[in-house]
Amino acid sequence: MEQIYNFSAGPAVLPKAVLQLARDEMLDWHGSGMSVMEMSHRGSEFMSIVEQLESDLRELLDIPQNYKVLFLQGGASSQFAMVPMNLLQSKNKADYISTGEWSKKAITEAQRFCTVNIAASSEEANFTYAPTQDKWQLDPAAAYVHYTSNETIGGVEFNWTPQMLNAHIPLVADMSSNLLSRPLNVTQFGLIYAGAQKNLGPAGLTLVIVREDLLATPITNTPTLFNYQAHAKNNSMLNTPPTYPMYITGLVMAWLKETGGLAGIEKINITKATLLYDLLDGTDFYHCPVAKSDRSRMNIPFTLKNPALDNTFLEQAKANGLIQLKGHRSVGGMRASLYNAMPIEGVAKLVAFMKEFASKHA
Ligand SMILES: *Cc1c(COP(=O)(O)O)cnc(C)c1O
Repeated sequence: MEQIYNFSAGPAVLPKAVLQLARDEMLDWHGSGMSVMEMSHRGSEFMSIVEQLESDLRELLDIPQNYKVLFLQGGASSQFAMVPMNLLQSKNKADYISTGEWSKKAITEAQRFCTVNIAASSEEANFTYAPTQDKWQLDPAAAYVHYTSNETIGGVEFNWTPQMLNAHIPLVADMSSNLLSRPLNVTQFGLIYAGAQKNLGPAGLTLVIVREDLLATPITNTPTLFNYQAHAKNNSMLNTPPTYPMYITGLVMAWLKETGGLAGIEKINITKATLLYDLLDGTDFYHCPVAKSDRSRMNIPFTLKNPALDNTFLEQAKANGLIQLKGHRSVGGMRASLYNAMPIEGVAKLVAFMKEFASKHA
């Protein structure tokens, strides 16, 4: 099989070693005579998989004991609703930072439940930067502050963690596309959520890390499956969890530990992103619209100076084994996603292809 490099924004590339191990264990997991897909979620085999997954995740992120880890379904999009339903409590306002398509979706959903104060926005600049904290106009009556740490579509990443001045107002982050790509201080957050299919594992698993004191009775008529407290009390076994995605995510955690943990992977991620940004900045054939200080290491959008060449670029990239480079339909152009599982060789090959393409079509 020819080596293909998959730059999809999600579902995205997984470590090859993980897929190979999953293949080897497909029909008979550790002598159980069963595939993980066939196991009872309450049986001892699967329980051991969950325990290992949670302990590896806790170790990688250094998650303190007063935080619960929930393994849910519904995607990050379900969290757009679950966050206000559970965290508003007696309040009716929340602060949101608007930095792109995903924060806009989170805002629209939150508006069903409360008054949303857009504390800062980069919409006037077409979402090409992350507003610094001195520009945030937080509402002291807000139940929480929500931001999107990496805008997967626009390629804007917060390279810093906001400081919560009021200890009673928790910071909530949608980290769907950059969780586990770099070290993180979990104690600065009240709640972190992520869909797994960008940087953690396959689609189907949604991860929530939440400080215990925030688990309280949600708004009236909240369905049980939208209730964090109910999930926490039942150790994410309120109903059948996404067993196979959890198993694969567990294998990814073990791979990440072997790769040097978050400090190790961060170095690799910086190397990869630098390779591509250096190329983009060194030519006017390509252009990246994002402010330099806020550029994402995970998702790198770029345009060709001559958009008439877009299709040729994509076709020739594909012929070279470089796939899924088309930008999101809302922004056009190209986008290369360089998640943890993308090897440096893949980025080097992309950069070499892009150089050659530029010189041929200059
Ligand atoms: C992909 C993505 C989502 C939506 O995730 P689903 O799992 O498809 O609901 C939300 N936020 C961000 C930042 C994303 O990248």
